[in-house]
Amino acid sequence: MNPPTKAVPTRRSWAEPFRIKVVEPVHTSTREQRDRAIAAAGYNTFLLRSEDVYIDLLTDSGTSAMSDWQWAGMMLGDEAYAGSRNFYHLEETVQKHYGYRYVVPTHQGRGAEHILSRALIKPGDVIPGNMYFTTTRLHQELAGGRFVDVVIPQAHDPGDEHPFKGNVDLEKLCTVIGEAGAAQVPYVSIAGTVNMAGGQPISLENLKAVRELTARHGIRVILDATRLAENAYFIQQREEGYSHCSIAAIVKEMCSLSDGCTMSAKKDALVNIGGFLGLNDPALYDEASNLVVVYEGLHTYGGMAGRDMEAVARGIEESLHDDHIRARVGQVLYLGDMLRDWGIPIVLPVGGHGVFLDARAMLPHIPREQYPAQALAAALYADSGVRSMERGAVSAGRDPTTGDERFPSLELVRLTIPRRVYTQAHMDVVGESVYYVFRERERVRGLRMTYEPRYLRFFQARFEPA
Ligand SMILES: *Cc1c(COP(=O)(O)O)cnc(C)c1O
Repeated sequence: MNPPTKAVPTRRSWAEPFRIKVVEPVHTSTREQRDRAIAAAGYNTFLLRSEDVYIDLLTDSGTSAMSDWQWAGMMLGDEAYAGSRNFYHLEETVQKHYGYRYVVPTHQGRGAEHILSRALIKPGDVIPGNMYFTTTRLHQELAGGRFVDVVIPQAHDPGDEHPFKGNVDLEKLCTVIGEAGAAQVPYVSIAGTVNMAGGQPISLENLKAVRELTARHGIRVILDATRLAENAYFIQQREEGYSHCSIAAIVKEMCSLSDGCTMSAKKDALVNIGGFLGLNDPALYDEASNLVVVYEGLHTYGGMAGRDMEAVARGIEESLHDDHIRARVGQVLYLGDMLRDWGIPIVLPVGGHGVFLDARAMLPHIPREQYPAQALAAALYADSGVRSMERGAVSAGRDPTTGDERFPSLELVRLTIPRRVYTQAHMDVVGESVYYVFRERERVRGLRMTYEPRYLRFFQARFEPA
């Protein structure tokens, strides 16, 4: 915490709506140990051992702290193979808060994406969406489809402070549907918030317009509901007419403008593992609940233990409390404001689940072919033991038809904040390390890829200094 000063307070602070009951020690290390660890990991933070990490901001996925109520629920796991009571609790909770009629449980988000893509996409189809997500797009491509980005252009500009950078460019969507023909567009894929743009929200006004436009063509809207509660917070704070609505009410309204969702419960829903598919169409549900048996598990567990489903059900309830979401996004804003005030180039406005460093602006001396974001993430780890991840050319991978590397306009390093895990003092340590690496930025060198996996290469690729 900051040392007390003599100045009298000029504001009234608020703090997290919880206190800490269990603690988990973390390890500190020396610079020499970290230099060795990152070299052994091929300069890829995904290949570091967790024990070599001090503050882990790799991802907010599955890394949240569960509450005492969730842990208590885990003891009530009904581990029957079929018809576990925890499944029915999960189903009721999804119906109550997201409003979908049918729920297909899956082991995590990509399980739901796989099943949905197989059920809806045929070869040659086009799936427009508000910016790609790695696993979402890959499953669309593996099913024979092609993702087309229809997010507003501001989303690709890290400095543009548009309040809803996750909005769809309606004219572009219209053009894509016109060119492909509605029969070739099985659904429009809408993420709230948009992960790859920096956790940026879509407005309800825009989602309504997408709904109207697609309804005219008989095209479905499928939400990626992974961070819908965080998106709802931005709507509550920024969109006219919603400041008096609860997060839960906004989430439900968003879902009502869609035909279904894929969900990684590892994010919003405060669990370490889990996911589901929410659907309204009975025929599509039949197909999905048949496919889930092939790829995940029976349609009443879908790859989760009974206790996991109970934790998801309880986590959904907690994720929609207004005071929870304010503290969660508030902590991200705390770190983001600190870095912005120190003149460090970050994606603005600060998003819902992390602060995204603009690696191209921070390291202009490293060419794109030498992966400046990958190099920055490695340098940050070496400086302080803070683990972040690349979200740039390495994540974007190669074009499946040409085989060429894709160089997206955004070359970012993501400092992703797990929910309810770290304190404000941890955020100070992170901010100071970013500042130090930025000040000494000429010392950061580019990287050359020495091993490239075929799918989702960012997870397992290896590098060496160029
Ligand atoms: C994490 C994530 C997914 C995939 O979910 P997993 O649980 O990691 O399989 C899909 N969409 C978005 C936006 C995500 O952040």
